[in-house]
Amino acid sequence: MSYNVNEKGYYGKFGGAFIPEMLYPNVEELRQNYLKVMAEPEFQKEFNQLLKDYVGRPSPLYFAKRLSEKYNTKIYLKREDLNHTGAHKINNTIGQILMAKRLGKNRIIAETGAGQHGVATATVCALMGLECIVYMGEIDIARQAPNVARMKMLGATVVPATSGSKTLKDATNEAIRDWINNPVDTHYIIGSVVGPHPYPDMVARFQAIVSEEIQWQLKEHEGTTKPDYVVACVGGGSNAAGVYYHYLDDEDVQLIAVEAAGLGVDSGESAATSVLGREGIIHGSKTLLMQTNDGQITEPYSISAGLDYPGVGPMHAHLYKSGRAEFISITDDDAMTAGLELCKLEGIIPAIESSHALAIFEKKQFQPNDILVVSLSGRGDKDLETYINHFKL
Ligand SMILES: *Cc1c(COP(=O)(O)O)cnc(C)c1O
Repeated sequence: MSYNVNEKGYYGKFGGAFIPEMLYPNVEELRQNYLKVMAEPEFQKEFNQLLKDYVGRPSPLYFAKRLSEKYNTKIYLKREDLNHTGAHKINNTIGQILMAKRLGKNRIIAETGAGQHGVATATVCALMGLECIVYMGEIDIARQAPNVARMKMLGATVVPATSGSKTLKDATNEAIRDWINNPVDTHYIIGSVVGPHPYPDMVARFQAIVSEEIQWQLKEHEGTTKPDYVVACVGGGSNAAGVYYHYLDDEDVQLIAVEAAGLGVDSGESAATSVLGREGIIHGSKTLLMQTNDGQITEPYSISAGLDYPGVGPMHAHLYKSGRAEFISITDDDAMTAGLELCKLEGIIPAIESSHALAIFEKKQFQPNDILVVSLSGRGDKDLETYINHFKL
């Protein structure tokens, strides 16, 4: 069995492109060109140069000695938190802005919930001097003021979505409407391995730099390119896709996906999409999503804004249903505790999203010789207020 996308844009039975007919030309143009463009030596050269000089790659693969001692196993952290802008999202936005330029687009749109993807998009638009419009729910604009300010400083226009629940899915609807109205000059930068084919595959390929680096970095540390486990938190699934990518079809390497249980999987306040989700269509893709009995998308909840997404990418839906990846859900409290533990043991303040991945060590026992690579997807500066309130610091 292959766990990668097939020619039709499916991972098993998940994926595809379920889009309004008026969007078809835009998505089709991208589908016909993305692999060709990515294979061009000039594209590869520019992409790799920017990852090195602008993002600061390769990100270190750090052996967490004190954390490893505590849990009596070998834990490596892939330090995406050290990237420019503080998370893995920039790998994808760099790739997509170069793609947009190759396709002759001079106007960029995006939607954002917590604002992290909006900031990563505004960053690369400033870098390239392209116009940037970010759609964001009115409620999210109020909740995420620092990220809104960042986007504005970077020259982006932030447009409030005022319909429906005034959150992420409404912002997505606005972005799609914009794209339908501007098919020729506009590229839509999607921020995770979600959306209609070819987005999940394209974003996974841009994030694949992460496991490409892990292979040679682990070889230097341990004399092998293969860890026993790779571990990542999953919102839409892009940092997980990055750490899994080169190991997807190698069953010697076990994949662990960590979802946000919020207040508890059965509490009604959760974002554990694979466990709670059923098949449906969201953002143009057939996948698992949290929905009511009559198919309305349920508002997810997690203390970490980046995991607060009602669906999951089609690659991950397939990894879940096929059993290739083990899915573990972690509550708000357990994630926060694990995040604070990393601060004390290693001197690293993680994003709360990443803290979910770190919390598995209290749930699951590993062998002393097991080699684990955990994706430290982002840094915790953006989450300081949440840490302060949670621990009464
Ligand atoms: C956005 C974000 C995530 C979740 O998104 P994925 O696409 O699942 O990776 C995780 N960690 C951080 C730090 C983020 O900003």
